[in-house]
Amino acid sequence: MADPKGFLTTPKREAQRRPVDERITDWREVYVREHPRRSAEEVSEQAGRCMDCGIPFCHSGAVGCPLGNLIPEWNDLARRGRWPAAADRLHATNNFPEVTGRICPAPCEAACVLSIAEDATGGSVTIKRIERTIADLAIVAGIEPQFPEISTGRRVAVVGSGPAGLAAAQQLTRAGHDVTVYERDDRLGGLLRYGIPEYKLEKAVVDQRLAQMRAEGTHFRTECEVGVDLTVEQLRAQFDAVVLAVGALRARDDRDLPGRDLDGIHLAMTYLVASNHECEGDGPTPISARGRHVVIIGGGDTAADCLGTAHRQGAASVTQLDLYPRPPVRRDEQLTPWPTWPLILRVTPAHAEGGVRRHAVAVRRFLAEPRRGHLRAIELVPVSVRKDDDGAREVTETGEPWQLDCDLALLAIGFAGVEHMPLLGGIGVALNRDGVLDCDPRWGAGAPGVFACGDAHRGASLVVWAIAEGRAAARAVDEYLAGDSDLPAPVTPD
Ligand code: FAD
Repeated sequence: MADPKGFLTTPKREAQRRPVDERITDWREVYVREHPRRSAEEVSEQAGRCMDCGIPFCHSGAVGCPLGNLIPEWNDLARRGRWPAAADRLHATNNFPEVTGRICPAPCEAACVLSIAEDATGGSVTIKRIERTIADLAIVAGIEPQFPEISTGRRVAVVGSGPAGLAAAQQLTRAGHDVTVYERDDRLGGLLRYGIPEYKLEKAVVDQRLAQMRAEGTHFRTECEVGVDLTVEQLRAQFDAVVLAVGALRARDDRDLPGRDLDGIHLAMTYLVASNHECEGDGPTPISARGRHVVIIGGGDTAADCLGTAHRQGAASVTQLDLYPRPPVRRDEQLTPWPTWPLILRVTPAHAEGGVRRHAVAVRRFLAEPRRGHLRAIELVPVSVRKDDDGAREVTETGEPWQLDCDLALLAIGFAGVEHMPLLGGIGVALNRDGVLDCDPRWGAGAPGVFACGDAHRGASLVVWAIAEGRAAARAVDEYLAGDSDLPAPVTPD
């Protein structure tokens, strides 16, 4: 049983980040790399700060972990050094804890009862760090494939290999179905692979898990866009059920901005994908920030990932623009859950690496070099933003325009839902007003045997939600194919 007073005697210790000067010279992870066995003792003590409070908001989906991770249970096992047992409890609810243990903004920590009175308690339990150590120790010991006990003979296609698709595929394979994951990119992982930069998530981490999935019998097909390279008729003829985990990758743009078509202006995702290809060894990125004056338009996490990437590429300067005024900052400027708390300034490790943040400014136009038609500056203007009763945004200029030197501009102004693709109409599903797929209570997407999950259903969100929805959709598919299911359903589609 947990020590209810452990937090009074053990101070909170977060995972250590590498010094900025060092980490911006390479693509390795931001955090100090140490063998998980080395940190196990300290992490075990950290786990002892969990008081098993009896009201564990940390694993309640509404405010804490949507996966329902059994946090007090594995904290106690970690405290007692029972790492393999802790890993079993962790894997019981989470297919990819080595991923969430690295990049989840940890709503569980924000929900931890110890964070209610930080001055008295020292702050939340370091749940994410404990999760990562449990997961990494399990990997060091060897994560064995979990083979299905039966074979149902039913075939399932999962479209999209992001965390939602992978979680659904792993659950369904383990339930005995014959599962094929289709991915239009050349490598698997969705945004884990080509969105999130290497310095946040080294891709070797994703590959380890994919090896386990292959060993378990999940089939993968890359460079295959379903609806184009595999027609809907072929899909329907070959599979008994289809899971749409196609993400919400339609980027917002502002094509009306004067000068938008100049060379040197790119969508953030075009830039990040190209950089991730370079990190994968595919040759130099065609959009490098090296020696450039970079301006990132947008105040969210994608913008922060552009910031960290531009520094590592050797940008001459990096400025991040945000339409909104600087919101209150958390006392310690620690990582803030995104997008859960939009009123709190989002600070990521990338912001500690340099660059200038400008708030309450809007882009008026992009300015070109006289002859070459390449971007040379951005005209900006101070603004205030107001939302009317319907939520519509009203932007008012509040001062004189001014110019900022810039020869690489990155638009990180959000996502507008699922990309329009032949697959959707072909299979008979439609996007709702928010540009995503509605699901019925059983994750059905509006056509027989077709299910949806992850960002495709939820809109741009978090990895932990994608895994939770993938697991829940897998249960619905299992019920559809087999009549009932023992698979867990951590979340519902509402
Ligand atoms: P995705 O990961 O988007 O995967 C969808 C996949 O479907 C893609 O690979 C796509 O190529 C494929 N696909 C689409 N259509 C087809 C088709 N017709 N045929 C075949 N394949 C198809 N979340 C966090 O928790 N922490 C973070 O630090 C974090 N950082 C982020 C950084 C960036 C830059 C971005 C954009 C997002 C970040 N997120 C983060 C959010 C997180 O990555 C997503 O919520 C999550 O990846 C969604 O998973 P998904 O499986 O639903 O979709």
